[in-house]
Amino acid sequence: MESAQSESVLDVVVVGGGLVGMSLALALDRQPGLRVLALEAQPAPSPQAPRWDERHFALGRASTLALDELGVAYGAGGQHPIRRIHVSRRGAFGRTLLEAAAHGLPAFGQIVPARQLAGALEDAMARTTGLERLRPARLQQFAARDDHVELELRVGDDTKRLRTRLLVAADGTDSVIRNALQIPLQSHDYAQTAIVTAIEVERDLDGCAYERFTGSGPIALLPLDRRRAGLVMSLAPDHAAIALAMSDEDFLALAEQRFGTRLGRWRRVGQRQPWPLKLQFAERVVDRRVAVIGNAAQTIHPIGAQGFNLGLRDALALAEVIAAHRDGVGSEAMLAEYAERRREDRERTARFSDALARFMASDLPIGPLRSFALLSAEHLPLLREALVRSAMGFR
Ligand SMILES: Cc1cc2nc3c(=O)[nH]c(=O)nc-3n(C[C@H](O)[C@H](O)[C@H](O)COP(=O)(O)OP(=O)(O)OC[C@H]3O[C@@H](n4cnc5c(N)ncnc54)[C@H](O)[C@@H]3O)c2cc1C
Repeated sequence: MESAQSESVLDVVVVGGGLVGMSLALALDRQPGLRVLALEAQPAPSPQAPRWDERHFALGRASTLALDELGVAYGAGGQHPIRRIHVSRRGAFGRTLLEAAAHGLPAFGQIVPARQLAGALEDAMARTTGLERLRPARLQQFAARDDHVELELRVGDDTKRLRTRLLVAADGTDSVIRNALQIPLQSHDYAQTAIVTAIEVERDLDGCAYERFTGSGPIALLPLDRRRAGLVMSLAPDHAAIALAMSDEDFLALAEQRFGTRLGRWRRVGQRQPWPLKLQFAERVVDRRVAVIGNAAQTIHPIGAQGFNLGLRDALALAEVIAAHRDGVGSEAMLAEYAERRREDRERTARFSDALARFMASDLPIGPLRSFALLSAEHLPLLREALVRSAMGFR
């Protein structure tokens, strides 16, 4: 178990050491004199219990630049550039090809395996000097007062009490903090499960990411090596259960049939993991002495590859607002500024992913309407620009 903080009032306690919580902790560690404690309920990962999954994240250019700034280094083989994005629809002719070079960029962003990203964040956390960490430690209860929050933690068999000026909920989709505060949620169950894995294809991916829409759910390929790609295939939950139980050969045949022949035959598939898909959008991201960030604030459909990119922007904005309010950390004015800074980006990004997911995954008759949407994107510079900006994480 890692070390505990002393009993006096802390400035910030970050609950949740997922990708977003760690990013915030790193950003706060850059502020000398700020007393920060980062809590995580799970034990430190080990080779026997690696904790991280099979996903591959598409990180926008803005996110990779920000992570560089935070001292997060993925190491050799940790990043794979996305130089092109190809969007198409099964059974329709329309398609959109976005070229990074046409926008004067070497790449729209990078694909980073979840393990590599989490490992790089963990390494950066291990190099921090001012930050206190407690892990495994679970927030059990809290009560906000006028000038601080009282916290009760479960640390092994012990109960520990602390006080902080600001409590940050980075505790994920089922956030205990957000739930305890009864912050209203806008929710939607997409009735789909994403199957996540890695595959090998016959033809060179050449840095191209593919997003293909089918009547029964989207399928995305994220370029890793020349012939290896991360796969995210969304299916109705009962179909996903069948697909997860299939032999590798049958699964490859199914995925290839949904994707089409553009990349030749599909050869090998890695471990498959299911992710049920839902939207959860918190109507408020602040409460007395509390700020909510990352998936605790909004869990969105992965179709636009925006969840972590958006959560990272929450974390960076919160760190900046804290820096601007060093004498009033957790104050009403500080929290109002954080909420206002995040309002438009959160709403637009969640709406964008939700609209894309519902429009493209529905079983409504397709044909000309959706082909037209893609063809319009090809021909309307403004829409293309919006797609490019969202792909880069600049929103
Ligand atoms: C299939 C799929 C593909 C995706 N692809 C992309 C992509 O390409 N690009 C992208 O930007 N995003 C993507 N995302 C979204 C991204 O995974 C999430 O937005 C991001 O991981 C959220 O991180 P988080 O730290 O907010 O939450 P979490 O990762 O859920 O972390 C929350 C942490 O809080 C801890 N915790 C919970 N309760 C307590 C407690 N009481 N006390 C202490 N600790 C607690 C948990 O143990 C956990 O570690 C994808 C998501 C899915 C499902």
